Amino acid sequence: MERIAVLTSGGDAPGMNAAIRAVVRAGIDQGWQVFGVRHGYAGLISGDMAPMGARDVGGIMQLGGTVLGSARCPEFRTEAGRRQALQMLGQHQVEALVVIGGNGSQSGAHALSQMGFPVVGVASTIDNDLYGSEITIGVDTALNIALEAIDRLKVTASSHHRAFLVEVMGRECGYLALVAGITGGAEAIVLPEIEADPEAIAVTLRSAYDRGKPHALVVVAEGARYNAQALAAYFQQNRERLGFDLRVTTLGHVQRGGAPGASDRLLATRLGAAAVACLSSGKHGVLVGLNKSEITDSPLSQVVSTKKQLDLDLVKLAGVLAR
Ligand code: ADP
Repeated sequence: MERIAVLTSGGDAPGMNAAIRAVVRAGIDQGWQVFGVRHGYAGLISGDMAPMGARDVGGIMQLGGTVLGSARCPEFRTEAGRRQALQMLGQHQVEALVVIGGNGSQSGAHALSQMGFPVVGVASTIDNDLYGSEITIGVDTALNIALEAIDRLKVTASSHHRAFLVEVMGRECGYLALVAGITGGAEAIVLPEIEADPEAIAVTLRSAYDRGKPHALVVVAEGARYNAQALAAYFQQNRERLGFDLRVTTLGHVQRGGAPGASDRLLATRLGAAAVACLSSGKHGVLVGLNKSEITDSPLSQVVSTKKQLDLDLVKLAGVLAR
């Protein structure tokens, strides 16, 4: 092998740059030339790729987002789009591809790999909804950003005897909400995976008020049926009974944009280097991830067909601690 390429795709996550850096430098260490593809699969289809040297990836590790850019590319979902991508890879004499991204991106990686091209995926999404890696690049930083906001909201909430509904990201997976809720000391947590009873949450808030709590916190995942807006609308019908004055804060994309912390930089560096090691040993069609503190590789076919399960022990713990 002489030439590989790397791209970032789908939702950006803090730590993607450290993964790019590791792929480029570990690839160079193998004696390969490493191409950076701009804007995810869109750049693969248009042939927007160029060689990256060790210096090109200097000074990027501490930056959030991705220096290669990302995109959502419907065309890549079609076989014709992927054929065009393969043609571009051929034109640039690229022999293998590293895809840094989440669930959708790894579905694309799998589809390309099914067409006979060597691909290795790197687990990167702030949602932590990717099977094959207990924790993915970006989760830790996104959680710390959510916590910083929650801690600040609790300070102001105490001054005014308020309850805050804080909405965090997570369309189908409640991991961010669950862990932000536990580590932020929430009275209630609302997840997409478990149907919430708004009436029970109202009772929880009232009870916290009656027990003399100075503030209350409900962490809500954006994808829950009762997201922050729906819950606020429900409580609006009878605000007084909560005791607390209610406020809503939606963190949204703020969670994505932070500078990656040490944990994400290290994870991204290890996974980027592991992707290169896979290709070097002739292994592809896999996702590199972290499981039980070890770097592992799982078949992409399994990754894209298996749903990551919510940790029910954590859900139980959240209930025990909210007193
Ligand atoms: P994420 O990787 O963050 O989950 P998306 O779900 O938006 O992000 O997916 C990113 C891109 O991956 C899509 O825009 C598309 O180009 C590609 N993709 C997603 N699913 C498939 C699929 N089933 N087949 C081929 N490509 C896909």
